[in-house]
Amino acid sequence: MSDDNNSNSNSNRILVIDDSPAIHEDFQKILGSGAANTDELDAMEAMMLGGEEEAEAAEMSFELTHAHQGEEGYNCYRQAKEAGDPFFMVFVDMRMPPGWDGLQTIKAIRQIDDEAAIVVCTAYSDHSWEEIAEQCNNFDKLLILKKPFDPIEVTSLAKSLHERWELQMQARLRTDELERLVRLRTSELEIELAKDKDRMDQLEQAVAERTAELRKLAFTDKLTGLPNRVQFHDVLIDAVAANQRDPGHAYAVMFIDFDGFKTVNDSLGHDSGDLLIQQIGGRLKGAMEGKDFIARDISPLALAARLGGDEFCVLIDGYQDESEVMASAHALLEAFKQPYDIGGTVINSSASIGVTLSRFNYDSAEDVLRDADTAMYAAKAGGRGMAMLFEESMHESAKLQMALKNDMHLAMDEDQLAVWYQPIVSLESQHAIGAEALLRWMHPEYGMVSPMDFIPIAEESGLICEMGAWVLEQVCLQLARFPKLKYMSFNVSRYQFADPTFIDRFDQVIARTGVDPGRLVAEVTESSMNQDAAVAAQCIKQMRNSGMRVYLDDFGTGLSSLGALRNLTVDGIKLDRSFLDDTVFSRRAAAIIDSAVTLANDLDMQLIVEGVESVEQVAMLQSLRCPAAQGYLFSRPVPEADLSQLLAKPSALSVKIAA
Ligand code: C2E
Ligand code: MG
Ligand code: MG
Repeated sequence: MSDDNNSNSNSNRILVIDDSPAIHEDFQKILGSGAANTDELDAMEAMMLGGEEEAEAAEMSFELTHAHQGEEGYNCYRQAKEAGDPFFMVFVDMRMPPGWDGLQTIKAIRQIDDEAAIVVCTAYSDHSWEEIAEQCNNFDKLLILKKPFDPIEVTSLAKSLHERWELQMQARLRTDELERLVRLRTSELEIELAKDKDRMDQLEQAVAERTAELRKLAFTDKLTGLPNRVQFHDVLIDAVAANQRDPGHAYAVMFIDFDGFKTVNDSLGHDSGDLLIQQIGGRLKGAMEGKDFIARDISPLALAARLGGDEFCVLIDGYQDESEVMASAHALLEAFKQPYDIGGTVINSSASIGVTLSRFNYDSAEDVLRDADTAMYAAKAGGRGMAMLFEESMHESAKLQMALKNDMHLAMDEDQLAVWYQPIVSLESQHAIGAEALLRWMHPEYGMVSPMDFIPIAEESGLICEMGAWVLEQVCLQLARFPKLKYMSFNVSRYQFADPTFIDRFDQVIARTGVDPGRLVAEVTESSMNQDAAVAAQCIKQMRNSGMRVYLDDFGTGLSSLGALRNLTVDGIKLDRSFLDDTVFSRRAAAIIDSAVTLANDLDMQLIVEGVESVEQVAMLQSLRCPAAQGYLFSRPVPEADLSQLLAKPSALSVKIAA
C-alpha cells in the first residue's frame, strides 16, 4: 500500500491508457458518467446478480481520464498520486506504437506504486503471459481483460477493484488512527515519565540533602557545634597515617578536661552544666580562630572537637617546634581560666590539659588519645589548671587513677574510708592543743590509699562534698571523746565551695552532734583563693559565722599568700612544710618563719608550722617564738584509738621535744 497520506480515500478515478480513441469511447460509455447505456448495463447487472444492493451499486459511475500513450499515462498516474487525488485503477493497452508499450508502462507505474491495481487490456499478446509476470512487480495484482471486452465484465471489474480500494483505504484509515492513538499514548506516557523523572529528581535531591544533614549531625557535637568524637577520630587517623609515611610530619594532640565540671553540674543542674560546656566550647573556638593560639610562621591545621562531657581535644597537625605546642596549650589554659557567667552565677575554674606528640611513634589514633588522656590525668593530679606533656612513666599512675576512679563510689558505701588524726602541739606547753583530721581510704586491693591520690578524684567526681561532710561528722563525734583538745581541724576542698548546700550541711552536722563549733577549725588551702577568691571569701565568712574558726592551710605555696590575707579574715595560718625542708632550711627559711610569726601576732592569728621532723627544727622554731607545730616528729597521722593513747601520755610528745 502507498504511504501517501494525502491520498483521497474516496477516489472513483480510473485511468485508461490506450492508443485507440474508439477504446476510450467504449470505456467512457461503459464506466463514465452519463454513459448512454449505463442504465441498460446496470439493469442487466442487477438482473444477473439480483438484489437491491447490487442494483444500487450498479448506479455508481466513475471519472475517467484518458491517456493515449504509455509515457503520458504514466505521467498522469504520477501527477494524480502526487496531488493526492489518485486513480484507484488503470486500464493499460499492450500495444501503443510508437511510444512505450503496455509492459514498459506497467513497469514504470509499478516503480512509483507497487500497489497499483492494473488491468492489462490485450487482444493478442506481443508478450507471453510468463514474460509479463516476470517483468512486473506484484504480478498477482495484475488483471487481464481480453479485447473485445464485455461491458459487464468491465463494470464488475471496476466495481470490485473500487471496492478493494475502499477496503484498503478504510484499513489504512484505521491503521492511521491506530498509529495516531499509539503516538498520542506514547507522548502521554512520555509526559508521565517526564513527570515521574521530575518526581524522582526531587526525591533524589531530598534524599541527598537529608543524607548531608545526617552526615553533618553524625560528625558534629550538638551542644557546641564543634566537630564530635567521630570526626576528630577520623582526622586523627589521617594525621597518624601521614606521620607514618613521613616522620617529619609532626602532630600533637591536646586532651582537655574542665576542672570540677561535675561539681557545677551537680550543684547548679544540668542546664547550667550545658551552658558551661557551650561557653567552654565557645572559648575553644575563639582560641582556635585567635591569632595568638599558635605562634608560628607556618600554618598547621588545628582542629578542636568535643569528645563528650567536659572533654575536648585539639589536634595540631604539622607543627614545627614542640615549644609551639606547649605555648598553645598555655594560651588555652589562660582562656579557660577566665570567669564564666552561667545565668548570673559566676563560676571560676580551670581546665587541665594533657599533651602528646607524634614522636612517641603511634600507630593508632586510640593510642594517641589514651596517652593524651593519661597526661591530662597527670596534669589534674599535679594541681589542676596546668598542661602536661606525656611521659611513659605516667601510664602506671594513670592505671591506678583509673582504678580508683572506678572504685570511688564504693569507698563511701562500703565503709572503706577512715579518718586518722595528727596532733598539733604547742611548742610552749609541749602538749597537744589540737589534732588534724586526715582522710584515709582502705582500698580492698591497693591497701591504704593516700588522700593525695584520691582527693583529686573525689573532687572531680563531686563526691568530695559528701566526703567532706562525713569527715566533719567524724570529727564532731570524736571531739566529745577528747575534752582536753582545744580543737580538731578538718580540711575543706575548694570544690565544696561550689556546693550551694555546703554550709547547711555543716550546720546540720554541728546541730546533730551538739558539738561546740568553737572547737572546730576548717583548713582551707591557700590555693583555693587563686581560683575564685570571692566565693572562697564568702564561704569562709559563712563558716566563721557558724562559729567555726578558719585556718589558711599550706600557707606560702600560693601565688599571693599575703594578698590572700589582705582580702580575707582568717583565724590562723599553717605554714607549709616546704619551709622546713631539711635541705633548704637556712637563714632564709628562718627569716621567713620569723616574719610569719610577726605577721600572725600582728594580725592576731594562730600560727602552726607543718612538717616538723627533727628536734633541731623544733629548737629553731622555739627560738623564733613559733607557737605551734605539727609533724612526724610528734606523731604521724594515726587512727583515733592511737590518738587516745598518745594523748593519755603527754610525755610521749614532750620527750621528743626535750630530746
Ligand atoms: P594537709 O592538709 O596539708 O595535711 C598535712 C599533710 O602533711 C598530711 O598528709 C600529713 O600526713 C602530712 N604530714 C604531716 N606531718 C608531716 C611531716 O612531718 N612530714 C611530711 N612529709 N608530711 C607530713 P596526708 O594525710 O597524706 O594528706 C595530704 C593532703 O590531703 C592534706 O594536706 C589535705 O590537703 C588533703 N586531705 C587529707 N584529708 C582530707 C580531707 O578530709 N578533706 C580534704 N578536702 N582534703 C584532705
Ligand atoms: Mg590540712
Ligand atoms: Mg597543710
